[in-house]
Amino acid sequence: MKYVFGVDIGGTTVKMGFLTSEGELLEKWEIPTDRSDNGANILSDVAASIDSKITEKGIDKADVIGVGAGVPGPVDSNGIIHSAANLGWGVFNASEEFSRLTGLKAMVGNDANVAALGEMWKGGGVGYKDIVMVTLGTGVGGGIIIDGKIVNGSAGAGGEIGHIHINDDEQAACGCGGHGCLEQYASATGLSRTAKELFADWKEATVLTADDLSAKAVFDGVKAGDKLCKEIAAKFGDTLGKGLAIIAAVVNPEAFVIGGGVSKAGSILLDYITPSFEKYSFHGTRNAKMVLATLGNDAGIYGAAKLLF
Ligand code: ZN
Repeated sequence: MKYVFGVDIGGTTVKMGFLTSEGELLEKWEIPTDRSDNGANILSDVAASIDSKITEKGIDKADVIGVGAGVPGPVDSNGIIHSAANLGWGVFNASEEFSRLTGLKAMVGNDANVAALGEMWKGGGVGYKDIVMVTLGTGVGGGIIIDGKIVNGSAGAGGEIGHIHINDDEQAACGCGGHGCLEQYASATGLSRTAKELFADWKEATVLTADDLSAKAVFDGVKAGDKLCKEIAAKFGDTLGKGLAIIAAVVNPEAFVIGGGVSKAGSILLDYITPSFEKYSFHGTRNAKMVLATLGNDAGIYGAAKLLF
């Protein structure tokens, strides 16, 4: 039996997984992310945790194929990180450093791209090799997989779909400093903002209240048949579908895999994205399926492991 480790390094915790080479997750655990000293100890902490797991399991290190890791920042195809502000990291070759520390083959990728790879391998994207993962959380994250491989881009910023410019008239600034980015409308935060705007002018009955205009409240309302919630969801779906149509014209994926907190609404979410995608997409790209992600927070562990193959 051969094994592999998948590691998802976040700003607060490092999620770690011990898997077979077939992708069966045997065990997962977490260690805290030590951000002191510009994150200088993070990779060595992870390496030490892997070493003790190998000892605990009584396996031969020669049976470990390697360790993969996803990090919250741009990473190019050579494993060079172009700064990860959440960890305090600057520019360095993380794959080389991680390999030196673990004594194992190591591969490092951007966390969103790595999660996309995980969903293709063991999640909502199983059976496809050209997918775009769309993570609808606080922001809108993305990962593009073409022919089974991550599109990293020249500076590691491939798949940053949340910052596709979609509205010329936006006055509010996006987290990136731009104005009118997709994530200003299609994230959980953006959905709440739309809810707040429409709620303020709403004259009819609604299940929504001013103190809870979250994405969950809106989609719960949609399921209950609430008219305002359906309007909010329609506006959200229209903008997101337009963004996905733009992406489809560039990479023509087999499927969009929709994940992140907003996707907990379930398949009803897809009912609001698909009509808009079909309306705005070029006919040659309209074959793309809309599916939900299935791995949740484990996508990064699976995808990091898959980097080794
Ligand atoms: Zn932006």
